[in-house]
Amino acid sequence: MHLVELLAARSRPAAALLMTLTRRCPLSCAHCSTASTTDSEQLDAAPLTTFVATFTPEDRPDFLLLTGGEPLLRPRLVEDLAHRARAAGTRTQLLTGMFFARATRTPAPVAAALAAVDHVAASLDAFHEAEVPRARVFGVLRGLLDAGKDVSVQVTGLGPDDPYLADVTDDIRRTFGDRVPVLAAEVRAAGRAAQWLSAAPSAPAPAVPAADVPQGAAPCAMAAWPVVAFDGTVVACCNQNVVDGRGGRLAGPAGEFPGHLRLGHVADDGWPAVRRALVERPLLRGIRAFGPQYLARALAPDADSGRECAGYCGTCVSVLAAPGAAAAADAFMARAGTRVLEREINRLVEERGADGFLARHTVAAYRDLAALGAPAGPA
Ligand code: SF4
Repeated sequence: MHLVELLAARSRPAAALLMTLTRRCPLSCAHCSTASTTDSEQLDAAPLTTFVATFTPEDRPDFLLLTGGEPLLRPRLVEDLAHRARAAGTRTQLLTGMFFARATRTPAPVAAALAAVDHVAASLDAFHEAEVPRARVFGVLRGLLDAGKDVSVQVTGLGPDDPYLADVTDDIRRTFGDRVPVLAAEVRAAGRAAQWLSAAPSAPAPAVPAADVPQGAAPCAMAAWPVVAFDGTVVACCNQNVVDGRGGRLAGPAGEFPGHLRLGHVADDGWPAVRRALVERPLLRGIRAFGPQYLARALAPDADSGRECAGYCGTCVSVLAAPGAAAAADAFMARAGTRVLEREINRLVEERGADGFLARHTVAAYRDLAALGAPAGPA
């Protein structure tokens, strides 16, 4: 399972499920987007496995993305989830900081978990390297490659000109002979990084530049894949400041997840119900196609809501969470003209495929590295 397969599906609603297995992590990187510590919270395994058991060959995400915190602190859970997902036809990617590479031998449960998933993505940046030597991470990747496993590396720099990015990407290309794809991104103001990087919560760039879509809409592809948050709530947004809603700076009223972005809970709902809510809820369809600010204007053109000051995600979690917004979206999204526009915008977003994601979320100079090692032919 090559990285570009995942990226090509990034804007397709419910193509994947992101599942956070724990907020715990033995590393203490200064830029950690989840502000993880060794004793952070984690949900019991049972509701997570029960939820994945609701995948069926007829109704399942194509991809299950396991993350944390450090998901390999729960290696048996990783193995169990990957096997359950595969039984339904879902492939699994695991994102790890590779804490275990500090030791000379990979613990057996961790090795079994790595063997169970379809793709292993390793995080690498100056902060990780202060705790886990690069050579050790490369050693684990080499072993996985030799065993036939698909791998990738997610590198993070302080900005597009950070010399670390040039150094580490050169090293990866040289060491693995251009067989390992690389995603190069900048540190975002979320989690611990929010304390020192910027006062403003990070917001995603629209899925397609506003100038390219009808009437200046700004589609949000971050509302395409459900995310299981640390407490088991399933939300329709991959913005870490929203996933981390209880206490995050984009929390809804009283620190709750904004209601329109809440799809359910792994203890109470199965995949089919979560998928239906994500794909069919008119307010979410509107956010995906038009973006929150365009949608807020369309739903209440005369309202003085302060939305121009709230920003992109700020409008989503305030104006669109307000009473009456869902009913207004039901009516707006049912109009024939809206449906035509929605279809056209979704077509444009889908056409951009992996390029759309890479243009929004990665550093331009390193964008082509995501395709390293990809099989020939279309993604
Ligand atoms: S616009 Fe809404 S759904 Fe999209 S990233 Fe922002 S908060 Fe999430």
